[in-house]
Amino acid sequence: LRHSHPTKLYLALLHHPVKNKAGEQITAAITSIDLHDIARLAKTYGVVGFYVVTPLIDQQELAGKIVGHWTDGAGATYNPDRKEALSLIYIRDDLEQVLAEIRHREGAEARIVATSASNGRRPLGYRGFRKALDAADQPYLLVFGTAWGLTPDFMEKADFMLEPIKGNTGYNHLSVRSAASIILDRLLGQRE
Ligand code: SAM
Repeated sequence: LRHSHPTKLYLALLHHPVKNKAGEQITAAITSIDLHDIARLAKTYGVVGFYVVTPLIDQQELAGKIVGHWTDGAGATYNPDRKEALSLIYIRDDLEQVLAEIRHREGAEARIVATSASNGRRPLGYRGFRKALDAADQPYLLVFGTAWGLTPDFMEKADFMLEPIKGNTGYNHLSVRSAASIILDRLLGQRE
């Protein structure tokens, strides 16, 4: 089913600044499965672009090789569906670069929505976010972290913190791929 209107939703997967187990700020390594799974998710739900953010040049080159294989290389002929999904990936240095590109493309400032397993300030519920996306009157950047999550400094920059996904037990350690899947379907999936 095609969207009644293209969303103005963008995704970002941040590899910096993120937290390590001790809560210190680090730069996490890019993992290929994150790129494949979240790009396919983005394609499925009509996300405009999927930004993979890392300041490390060698990591940008690694990500470029993965994307290139599936969009221009042997992978592109072997699996055109995967090519379509990975073509949504943009590899960038930092959040500022991502915001500048969206501003240029949309002529408006993207509202930043952070995600985490724990609650934060300026909470945003799914119903409110769905309504905003349906209105499609301004761009939104939904930001996922890696390692042990986005840093408090980053959360300060965000306009909202999306209500955390909660299971029905005290256990809450979803992978970023699982979290992104659940969130996107709640925001843009077909309602029964
Ligand atoms: N507990 C850390 C956290 O959620 O910040 C673990 C990080 S997890 C490995 C990587 C990313 O998945 C998080 O930065 C967040 O974007 C997303 N995530 C994980 N659990 C989530 C949840 N319960 N609700 C929303 N997003 C979640």
